[in-house]
Amino acid sequence: MIDAILKKIFGTKHERDVKRMMPVVAEINVLEPTVQALDDAALRSRTDELRKRVADRAEIEEVLPEAFAVCREAARRSLGMRHFDVQLIGGMVLHDGKIAEMATGEGKTLVATLPAYLNALSGKGVHIVTVNDYLAKRDAQWMGPLYHALGLTVGVIQHEASFTYDPAYATPDIRMTALRPIDRRSAYQCDITYGTNNEFGFDYLRDNMRFSLEELVQRELHYAIVDEVDSILIDEARTPLIISGPAEESTELYYKIDRIIPKLKRAATIVEGKLSEIEEEREGDYIVDEKSKAVSLTEQGIASCERLLNVDNLYDPQHITILHHVQQGLRAHALYRRDVDYVVKDGEVIIVDEFTGRMMPGRRWSDGLHQAVEAKEGVRIERENQTLATITFQNYFRMYDKLAGMTGTAETEAEEFAKIYKLDVTVVPTNRDLIRINHPDVVYKTEREKFNAVVEDIIKRNETGQPVLVGTVSIEKSEAVSKLLKKRGVRHEVLNAKYHEREAEIVAQAGREGAVTIATNMAGRGTDILLGGNPDFLSKEILRKKGIDPVTASTEERATALVEARRITEPEHQRVVELGGLHIVGTERHESRRVDNQLRGRSGRQGDPGSSHFYLSLEDDLLRIFGSQRIQRIMERLGMEEGEPIEHKLVTRAIATAQKRVENHNFEIRKHLLEYDDVMNKQREIIYGMRRQILDGESQADNVAEWIDDLVIGALDGYAAEGAHPEDWDLGGLTEALHRQFDVKIPAAQYDEVVSREGLTELVQEAVKQRYAARESELGEELMRALERHEMLIVIDTQWKDHLLSIDHLKEGIGLRGYGQRDPLTEYKKEAFDLFQDMVERVKAIVVERLFKVQVVRDSPMELPTITAWADAQESRGALPSDPRASGWTPSPGGSAPAPAPRPAPAPRTPTGEKIGRNDPCYCGSGKKYKKCHLLQDSR
Ligand code: ADP
Ligand code: MG
Repeated sequence: MIDAILKKIFGTKHERDVKRMMPVVAEINVLEPTVQALDDAALRSRTDELRKRVADRAEIEEVLPEAFAVCREAARRSLGMRHFDVQLIGGMVLHDGKIAEMATGEGKTLVATLPAYLNALSGKGVHIVTVNDYLAKRDAQWMGPLYHALGLTVGVIQHEASFTYDPAYATPDIRMTALRPIDRRSAYQCDITYGTNNEFGFDYLRDNMRFSLEELVQRELHYAIVDEVDSILIDEARTPLIISGPAEESTELYYKIDRIIPKLKRAATIVEGKLSEIEEEREGDYIVDEKSKAVSLTEQGIASCERLLNVDNLYDPQHITILHHVQQGLRAHALYRRDVDYVVKDGEVIIVDEFTGRMMPGRRWSDGLHQAVEAKEGVRIERENQTLATITFQNYFRMYDKLAGMTGTAETEAEEFAKIYKLDVTVVPTNRDLIRINHPDVVYKTEREKFNAVVEDIIKRNETGQPVLVGTVSIEKSEAVSKLLKKRGVRHEVLNAKYHEREAEIVAQAGREGAVTIATNMAGRGTDILLGGNPDFLSKEILRKKGIDPVTASTEERATALVEARRITEPEHQRVVELGGLHIVGTERHESRRVDNQLRGRSGRQGDPGSSHFYLSLEDDLLRIFGSQRIQRIMERLGMEEGEPIEHKLVTRAIATAQKRVENHNFEIRKHLLEYDDVMNKQREIIYGMRRQILDGESQADNVAEWIDDLVIGALDGYAAEGAHPEDWDLGGLTEALHRQFDVKIPAAQYDEVVSREGLTELVQEAVKQRYAARESELGEELMRALERHEMLIVIDTQWKDHLLSIDHLKEGIGLRGYGQRDPLTEYKKEAFDLFQDMVERVKAIVVERLFKVQVVRDSPMELPTITAWADAQESRGALPSDPRASGWTPSPGGSAPAPAPRPAPAPRTPTGEKIGRNDPCYCGSGKKYKKCHLLQDSR
């Protein structure tokens, strides 16, 4: 009420917004004669001047009027279109990072060039986002001459190809005119890049799976203009982008490993508080440390595994996975007890919370342990396929420094745009007044009656020659209408948003005399429906009729055909205008008012005549499910007879209410998805940030030093707690843990001299530090830094992937748990946070362990098993284009094994040429084993 009064006094908010921009429009218009006087080269050189001014930190706002004037003039010269004043306003709205609501046919494609040009001056690149590949390509080709005239480069990314706009590029295929194929990275280096939301999003995810800077394709996410923004940021926002791939190992391997575990013999168990001297070669295959829930293989154990699995060398990089599996298998058997740590229920292994004793469906142990327990219990091993990377559109587009959008229908969703994307909506007035007639809805009792009426309406119009566009909510409904029309002998076309390029051709002619076109919501969106037909598209048809392939036709043939086409469309346009323009028939109300408006907006463009009429029935989903009995009651009160439709304000209002309710409901669903993704988003930012630092080549030495410190303190806290009496220290456990983690062995005698925890800390820290320093002097500083980065990258990737798997399961399981009154989202956040913390701890431990133990074989490039795991990745619509490259590193296994050594190939020999085994005494006479002595040097 107050709103309505305020509107009368001050005009709507949109009117005020627009009014505020009018002086700038005037300013641009004043500049017009000056820029018109410039020759082409002088106009082009304005870009350089503007670039310089923007770089010199002149506020970009300051150069806006001039940039817009230059852009408009270039459009006039190169495209034959001069931006209307309202289009300048639209351009300003977009530049302000808002949504410009501009009706269909207002020329949004051209509008986008203004802010795109202005914002590209900074050199950071502008992305223009379209709903499909066809439109990305079309818009780049269409607007290309304008950017080209101004000296800007244009890129196009398509699903499996990338191009740049180059008018000099000759290709016989006119669909690809002026599109020179280039690599994806170059397409992103262009000033302006056209592409779909899917491609931009997937490129982002893929970039974060790369292993070197050169492989990244995207630059910073600077400014995006999203066309058909409601479709992309609202309708598509319910389904996130997912890259998935086969789970790292085949499940068969888990069973195979599981079979050999019972054949291995336990050598020792380290129990708390007992000082047990750990000897490396004790009888038995493995040592169990109950306290830290770790298992390590002995020398003998390694030999046993090699024999049982028929593997010649478990330390060969290609067998790392096997070693890891063996360790997890041992843990599953030796440390995890059924009905204590987990239960088996309905063929699933369910973790039991160790503190509360509650079952935790959906939670999984990480790093392959859960699968190992599943193998041990002989149940089905979950999941062959898993998420490798995922993001919602909401979170992808929120990463841009500046985001803007345009569409014919945004206002009904203004709240969502504001809340989720911080995007305001400004309604830009139309260039010409809208004169379309919107008939009030008519409601029938049954669907059958409704469709009969629809067909009658179509036929009535069709007999006069007036073109009709019929909108449906599904392909199925389109087919139903089509069948009815066929029965009555009415010629028509059906579109269902599958073949964008072909459908664009059909919908372009939906305004021709006598045309009947049936289309679902998205079909042919973005294509202009001209009354009397579209001469460009028609000229292709003419060529085909003459037996000429429009793709290979000569320029001359094409020009002739175009003249011919115009001769047809121009008088036809006049006739169709007289017939009342394009008539829209809606066969159902969509769940959202916005989509209905979108359909209506197809008619009455640029001041054309037109009309729209929606036909409904009480059997429609919307009325049935959401309209409830309310509408029914109204209808019955008004006394509805079979075959007798009703048009009543009460009904129309009830329908709008029902639609609002559904819109809210759908908004809640999207918000919910986003709330869940927001948790992941923070974690993704951290991980991707770390990856990026590593790829950038930043030294990780400080991080590693910090991690080592943390781990040393962690070990000390575990075995010699602060405040505990030295007699209660578990030095056996500590020794084993230090050996496992840092490959350090402190002689027992040294412990005897320590009497305080500080002393112990100092001793251990010193030993570990020395060991690391020794590693560094052995490998050299440069190599060590590179090794750090390399190991971090690999381990982060594997663990992150594993984490995503856990999160998938958590999401599935969270609803199944009985939380009483607690909110699942809160629980999810908490657990996801814990899982992430655990993962980070794991990353630290594994990286550090590998850094202490890994063997480096120089000049011997080998496959990296963990890295090649990405290779089979699939996005929801295709495969990962390039395999990550293998590097020259050869990491030996980490895990909880004693210091591993790589298998030098060919078999190691002493300097005198004799063969020598890993466990043989070294030939140098040191008394140490060969693997602990000269093997390292020899293998370089
Ligand atoms: P929208 O995306 O807003 O529905 P389009 O960008 O598809 O509209 O453009 C619709 C039609 O309007 C196109 O045929 C285009 O050539 C025409 N058009 C747009 N702007 C102008 C202009 N300033 N002068 C002349 N024609 C224009
Ligand atoms: Mg458009």
